[in-house]
Amino acid sequence: MNPSNTSVLLIYTGGTIGMIENAETGALENFNFEQLQKHVPELQKSNCSIDSYQFDPPMDSSDMEPEAWRKLVRIIYDTYERYNGFVILHGTDTMAFTASALSFMLEGLSKPVILTGSQLPIGVLRTDGKENLMTSIEIAAAQDKHGNPLVPEVCIFFENHLMRGNRTTKMNAENFNAFRSFNYPILAEVGIHIKYNYSVIHTIQEKQELKPHYLLDTNIAVLKLFPGIHENVVAATLTIDGLRAVVLETYGSGNAPRKQWFLRLLREASTRGIVIVNVTQCSAGTVEMERYETGYHLLESGIVSGYDSTTESAVTKLMFLLGHGYSPEEVRERMARPLAGEITL
Ligand code: ASP
Repeated sequence: MNPSNTSVLLIYTGGTIGMIENAETGALENFNFEQLQKHVPELQKSNCSIDSYQFDPPMDSSDMEPEAWRKLVRIIYDTYERYNGFVILHGTDTMAFTASALSFMLEGLSKPVILTGSQLPIGVLRTDGKENLMTSIEIAAAQDKHGNPLVPEVCIFFENHLMRGNRTTKMNAENFNAFRSFNYPILAEVGIHIKYNYSVIHTIQEKQELKPHYLLDTNIAVLKLFPGIHENVVAATLTIDGLRAVVLETYGSGNAPRKQWFLRLLREASTRGIVIVNVTQCSAGTVEMERYETGYHLLESGIVSGYDSTTESAVTKLMFLLGHGYSPEEVRERMARPLAGEITL
């Protein structure tokens, strides 16, 4: 059901979706909302009312920064009572990071926040942007017969799939089908009808208050292992000035070399209070450090499991937890608990 008295706030941050080809020069230029309405006349036909907010200037999402996440949280918090849902138009490159960050920063969210974008600009004939935009608006406004939102969480909608935001990864730079949620089921599949997979969508037990969070600590590094990695590369990363946490991208089910120098460096860093989270380089599956000896040694060195977390989610969750002043031990403990459905235990 999509009643006509619903309203959605469309927030345009930038990215390919909002670009229009200049007829004379052929160059891609950012649009404003009036231009968008001209290129997507379908917007007028939508039976919900749509207001817009535009980032000025719009940003390529490769330039995304926590400051812009704070701005999004502030806009949503300030207008929360006025709208049934929110659609964020965002570049695809870092959309999974933004979706993950927002899922932690918007505690107690009980309305849809749908991020979408496109691979081809909205002004291009074959664009995937119109479809993504129109369906996202429909999902953001969708309610059950009691007037409760169908999807009260931060999601990415892209090419027929609605996904939990903090479970997504951009995995294709060319196909329309750019995002995947490898470790969590699709929340809705869009064809002629929108088929919601209710059993995996977040449910709200009682009226909850939105609690916005703005504190993030970005003193984090991502260290991706590869055969032959040098001791000085690992040592230099783990001794970065001010470093508070590392997302260690390991092999398979969370395995890493057993070399003495490697385990010693990890142990020393953990003892100094650096939180090291083990996330697998594999797209799908989970970290199980107890499974092989090569993983077990990491456990002994004080490394904590990232379970089936994406790197995007682990990085932003660490920023969130460290930003809130938790001690290393408290952060380690909270990394093992889902805050917004980002890991499966
Ligand atoms: N570089 C663009 C961005 O992320 C790509 C896109 O929108 O798809 O903003």
